[in-house]
Amino acid sequence: MDHFQYRDGELCAEAVPIRRIADDVGTPFYCYSTVTLERHYRVFTEALTGLDALVCFSVKANSNLAVIATLANLGAGADVVSGGELKRALVAGVPADRIVFAGVGKTTDEMAAALKAGILQINVESAPELEMLAQVATSLGREAPIGIRVNPDVDAHSHVKITTGKRENKFGVPLADARELYRRAAKMKGIRVAGVAVHIGSQILTLEPFREAFRRTAELTQALRADGHDIRWVDLGGGLGIPYENETPPTPAEYGALVKSVIGPLGCRLILDPGRLIAGNAGVLVSRVLLVKAGATHDFVIVDAAMNDFIRPTLYNAHHAIVPVRESADGAVSKEVEVVGPVCESGDTFGRTRRLPAIAGGDLIALRTAGAYGAVMASAYNTRPLIPEVLVRDDAYAVVRERISVDDMLARETLPKWLATGTRAKRKAGR
Ligand SMILES: *Cc1c(COP(=O)(O)O)cnc(C)c1O
Repeated sequence: MDHFQYRDGELCAEAVPIRRIADDVGTPFYCYSTVTLERHYRVFTEALTGLDALVCFSVKANSNLAVIATLANLGAGADVVSGGELKRALVAGVPADRIVFAGVGKTTDEMAAALKAGILQINVESAPELEMLAQVATSLGREAPIGIRVNPDVDAHSHVKITTGKRENKFGVPLADARELYRRAAKMKGIRVAGVAVHIGSQILTLEPFREAFRRTAELTQALRADGHDIRWVDLGGGLGIPYENETPPTPAEYGALVKSVIGPLGCRLILDPGRLIAGNAGVLVSRVLLVKAGATHDFVIVDAAMNDFIRPTLYNAHHAIVPVRESADGAVSKEVEVVGPVCESGDTFGRTRRLPAIAGGDLIALRTAGAYGAVMASAYNTRPLIPEVLVRDDAYAVVRERISVDDMLARETLPKWLATGTRAKRKAGR
């Protein structure tokens, strides 16, 4: 359920017509709905009622400060995977003791920043990382609260690029090695064992992989307690899928019931780090049609957004509904077209065979379910600068990230000395 609906024939974000934003801000841009973000967060937390659970929004899904702050206001923590995301979470107002730091490779600077901030838990993914962290913590005179991320060897049956819990993946410590690593951790200066962590992938559409991963994690937790470790936190990761096309993922209530039955009996405090579930359907990507080009086999609708702005269709073959911003009249003739961006790659396509009503240059379209892994994965390929992000709340909207200009981009580049004097490049650059 989201709050991007037609009103009087115009697609709106809550009570704001998308067209109005497009006219003010220009295209392309990302548009997020506050009410949708809040609703998804509430539905998820309510599904966990009765558990001592902390929901840490996975910042990598959508790391805009305003999005993080919206969720932080409701009490959300943050799951971060870099020093940059840690800083974002802190700046957005997430209390340090609600931040968890995950990821397979952290620099010593990132570790130090996390320790100085005093975050809740650092999830460690290997023995060498544990040793690095112990060193950093000792040199700062601190103790690092750690969880060890285990790899439960469970197939999430998701896209190969977002499956993380199989033994051949780079993530986590094999279950069979976990007890030994905890034994070592418990003896290390600068390390305090706090929890166990698991995360098996993203866009998971059935409960079974979760059930299996949680079962194995529960077993391990009991074994670790029997070994004398004080395991207070179990971090179950994120990964619950959402509908993009006609998928029917488990509901948060079903997921919550599973967590209760498998993990509840441990009596631990829980961390859950959903990303996509919170942000995915809370955002759209709005783009303007440049022109319609007749191809040899089908027509191409060429739009001003491209794979650099939104890479999910190219990277994961992801399906995103494409809808016209002006609602098509009932019974309007529709035609099968391919919607593509202007980037010089054949992979720069948003939908190969889409039925769209008669559409022409100047029309606006929206790609739905673009709130997660959208803006955060953008690049500036083809010298196409990063596009704005807009947050709507009821009948108001705010630009929460400005459009970057080409001049901003060029200002960060300099010519080396041997090119900078009296050359053609210098004269051209006008420097
Ligand atoms: C990416 C990630 C998540 C979020 O996954 P979603 O599928 O967006 O819910 C949660 N935890 C960890 C450790 C992650 O790396």
